[in-house]
Amino acid sequence: MLPTQQGSFRLFRLFGIDVHLHWSWLIVAMYSVSTRVGNYASPLWALLEYLTLFLVVTLHEFGHALACRQVGGSAKQIVLWPLGGVAYVAPPSRPGATLWSIAAGPLVNVALIPVLAGLFWGVAVTGLADGHQDAHRFMRAITWMNLSLLIFNLLPVYPLDGGQILRSLLWYPLGRARSLLVATGIGLAGGVGIVGLAVWWQSWWIGIMAFFLLSGCWSSFKQAQGLRRLEQLPRRPEFRCPECHAAPPIGSYWLCPACRGAFDPFATSAVCPHCRTALDLTTCPDCGSTRPQRSWDGSIVDA
Ligand SMILES: [Zn+2]
Ligand SMILES: [Zn+2]
Ligand SMILES: [Zn+2]
Repeated sequence: MLPTQQGSFRLFRLFGIDVHLHWSWLIVAMYSVSTRVGNYASPLWALLEYLTLFLVVTLHEFGHALACRQVGGSAKQIVLWPLGGVAYVAPPSRPGATLWSIAAGPLVNVALIPVLAGLFWGVAVTGLADGHQDAHRFMRAITWMNLSLLIFNLLPVYPLDGGQILRSLLWYPLGRARSLLVATGIGLAGGVGIVGLAVWWQSWWIGIMAFFLLSGCWSSFKQAQGLRRLEQLPRRPEFRCPECHAAPPIGSYWLCPACRGAFDPFATSAVCPHCRTALDLTTCPDCGSTRPQRSWDGSIVDA
C-alpha cells in the first residue's frame, strides 16, 4: 500500500540514501500550491511554502534512516509522496534499536522548533519582515506545519511514529509479537477514530490518510498474529541465532534454494534431504538475518 521505487524517480542521493519522488506528488503539489496562492501577495511564496513542507518531511525521514544505520540496521531509500515521506528502514530486531530508529524522526521536528522560533524572532527584531507580509506569513506557516507534523506523527496509531514508539516500549515487557499485537489493536481503534473525524469534518484528505493508516495497521496486525504463532512453536534449544539469540523452531519451515523442498536444516546439518544441496546460509525465522549455520551456537549436529 505504500509508495515504492516503482512509479517514482530519484531526486538525489545523500549518505548513500536514495531520495525518490512519487509521480502522484506532482499532481497533489500543483493542487496544494493552488490552494495556498490566496494566502500570499506573490504566488512564489505558496510554492516555497509547499517545498519547505517537504524539506521538513525529508529531514524527518533522514532522522529515521540515519538513526537506523547508527544501531546497525539498513536504510537505503526514502520515498516522498503526497501523504509525506516513507523511510524504508530495517532496524535490528531489538526493542532499543527499533525505538531509536523510530523516535529519531519526530526528534528532528522537536529540534526544528527552536530553530524556526529563532528565525521567526530574528526576522521580527531586525525588522526584516516589516512591509514584507509574505515573509511573515511564510514563517508562521512553516512553524505551524512543523508543529502539526510532530503532533500528528506522535498519535499512537500504528504505523504512525507514535504507534511504533508505543510498540517498541511495550516490546520490553511483552515481547516482540504481543507488543505488536497490542500496538496494532490500539492502532486499528485509532484508525477508525480518524475515519470518524474525516466524516465529521467532511475531509477527503483525512479520509485518504485514515485509509492508508488502517490498511498498514491491518497488515501489521496479521504479521503480529504470525509472529505469535511462530513464538509458540516448539524450539531446538541447542542452537541460537547469532543475531537475535532465538532458538530455531523444530520442523520443516525452510525451503531449499535449489529444489524448493521444505526441510529442517538444523536436523540435517544444513543439507537438503531431497536434493543433497548444502545450504550456505540459514535464515532466522525470528529476525530474518541470514548467517552460515556454523555461526549458530551448537554448530553442526550429525544427520
Ligand atoms: Zn516518521
Ligand atoms: Zn534471529
Ligand atoms: Zn533441495
